[in-house]
Amino acid sequence: MRTPFRARAAVLTTHLRSVSRLVSVSCALLLGVLACDSFDSDAPSLSQNREQQRRLLPRQFFPAISEKDASGALGVRISRNSEGFKRLVRGDPTELVFKDEEGTGEDLVMSPRLRERLMRLSKLVETEWPGAQLRITEAWDEQNEHGPGSLHYAGRAADITTSELGSSRLSRLAGLAIAAGFDWVYYEGSHVHVSVK
Ligand SMILES: [Zn+2]
Repeated sequence: MRTPFRARAAVLTTHLRSVSRLVSVSCALLLGVLACDSFDSDAPSLSQNREQQRRLLPRQFFPAISEKDASGALGVRISRNSEGFKRLVRGDPTELVFKDEEGTGEDLVMSPRLRERLMRLSKLVETEWPGAQLRITEAWDEQNEHGPGSLHYAGRAADITTSELGSSRLSRLAGLAIAAGFDWVYYEGSHVHVSVK
């Protein structure tokens, strides 16, 4: 009778030892995680990291809804002598680089909200690629160069690149534009199209 009891007790002791080892290992791991977490409290969080590395693929847009739903419809088209033109502002060519291929200065004309986002993006571009500059190839369009309903006609859209070109650059530029707070960002192909409400 004694031997089986002793054997059972021995099995139980072994079992208890392994449970207690498991508990202490788990505690150590948990403490380790907590310690690591408190050591890294100044490091960017996971979501910040994701934001910092965000990119768009060609033909991809963000948010994943139509431009009309994100930035609103065109409404009234703005011409140089219309009432709406008075509400538009000019981008500062010392702060932003404009292509101005029309030579009329129309690419410098835009809504205040668009200019504010472009200024923010310009700073993000300079931080991301020291020495590089944000280039605006199109903003307000008074010459009917875009499709019907385009927000370029209201100075609420811009086409952008950087001073150095390349698909990797544009992909990341689109990510930076999302971080700069444009209401809709589209990696269109040879440039990134951005628009605001
Ligand atoms: Zn465009």
